[in-house]
Amino acid sequence: MNIQLIYNPNSGGGRGDKLYPLILKALRDKGYAVTPYRTLYCFHAAEIAKHIDVNACDLILAVGGDGTAHEVLNGIMQNTSSKEHPLMGVIPVGTGNSFSVDLNMKKWEDGLKAVFQGKSRRVDILEFITEGDKYYSINAIGFGLVADVTDLGNKMKKFIGKTAYTVGAVIEIMRFKPQKTKLEVDGKLYEYNGVFTNFSNSVWIGGNMKFSPNSIIDDGLAECLVLEDLPKKDLLKVFPKVFKGNHLTVPQLSVYKGKHFKVWSDSQKICNPDGEIFGVTPLELTVLQKEIKMLTL
Ligand SMILES: [Mg+2]
Repeated sequence: MNIQLIYNPNSGGGRGDKLYPLILKALRDKGYAVTPYRTLYCFHAAEIAKHIDVNACDLILAVGGDGTAHEVLNGIMQNTSSKEHPLMGVIPVGTGNSFSVDLNMKKWEDGLKAVFQGKSRRVDILEFITEGDKYYSINAIGFGLVADVTDLGNKMKKFIGKTAYTVGAVIEIMRFKPQKTKLEVDGKLYEYNGVFTNFSNSVWIGGNMKFSPNSIIDDGLAECLVLEDLPKKDLLKVFPKVFKGNHLTVPQLSVYKGKHFKVWSDSQKICNPDGEIFGVTPLELTVLQKEIKMLTL
């Protein structure tokens, strides 16, 4: 088997760099031909995946967290060397490994096991258009409080690790302002004063939040979670529920299931595709059903 391995040395606060030699050795010991690429800058993983000759490889393997998986997916989607997308695998060594959890892989050893076993499944991805450009998300993309928390959490992550997102959430809850939002779900229009609007392909976000408990990664549908305005003291109570997926019972929370979405906010808001910060409202999203074949346990 010919593996093109893309690893992010900075993932998981340097875990990627520490584990990489072990992962490479384990793969080569099994007799696989591995070509490794080390990412040097933001979006480098996407650039590498975009230019790999897919005809000469059996697997593109992302070694990193949600950000690396996101980039490798976007590179694969832009790769024109073959009509068929290559098989994609993830070895979760990041701070957040959300999509891997949906594929039953919690630890980096699970990612290796998936390579050895070779079991795969086709999964959906979310295509989204922002400012005229097309990108792809594997977990979720949203704006409002969810993106503001990601933004602040990403900035604090290198100092305090995973806790950054909890601290970030408390700070952002205290200072956020709701935005007037219009949402179109498969042609039907909704208007609301939103705390956040978030489109989920998979169950988990941020590695440990069961954000969209009813999402299924191959049903051709995404779940749009909308939280309408509520007093800050009530919002502070919603936040802890997200970890266990108990927030769906909050009266101000609605879930819209659909294949095609358009969304506008009264002021331009930043977005958080798969935990990265880029893209702005308005957004247009389409679920591409079973677009990518991924290794799973
Ligand atoms: Mg789905």
